[in-house]
Amino acid sequence: MRHRATLLLGGNKGNMPATFLRTLELLAERVGEVVASSQIYRSEAWGFDCEEEFSNQAVEVITPLEPEALLDATQSIEQELGRNRTQELEQKSLSGVRYCSRTIDIDIMFYDDEVISTPRLTVPHQLMHLREFALEPLLELEPQRVHPQLGLSIKELYENLKR
Ligand code: ATP
Ligand code: MG
Ligand code: MG
Repeated sequence: MRHRATLLLGGNKGNMPATFLRTLELLAERVGEVVASSQIYRSEAWGFDCEEEFSNQAVEVITPLEPEALLDATQSIEQELGRNRTQELEQKSLSGVRYCSRTIDIDIMFYDDEVISTPRLTVPHQLMHLREFALEPLLELEPQRVHPQLGLSIKELYENLKR
């Protein structure tokens, strides 16, 4: 069975274009065919004070992996590309804020038109409709795609947010 998943890459530490390129290579090796990728968008850090701007890129993959196996694969890629959760947790406990700098975050935005709610996985991603940095790259790839829970297209969600 082939599934269409939309991922959002993000990060603000190190050489982001190089990290995203490497991420695309690893996705192609381990997850499936990368059929579309947006430009890289830059924005200010969201949810915490931080000097470095964030970069984001939306990516569509065709994959045989089931949702949790897809998450396993994306999390192992995050780890290999230098994401250090232990260090992030220490930073969080020192500063008291939830978000912190990271080399690479790979979030699952959509998985076919499925609505998934398990302890490890909420799909569609629960905050994407509130985040311009997520909607803008998604808008480039699939403006007409309808959010299966909200019943609105990416374009509509983006316009609502900007209003
Ligand atoms: P946010 O979800 O607000 O963007 P984050 O991406 O920084 O935060 P992470 O530390 O990358 O959060 O992941 C925390 C947990 O989120 C993961 O361990 C994973 O199990 C869970 N998770 C739930 N839904 C998703 C999803 N759609 N994509 C990726 N991870 C998810
Ligand atoms: Mg995230
Ligand atoms: Mg994440």
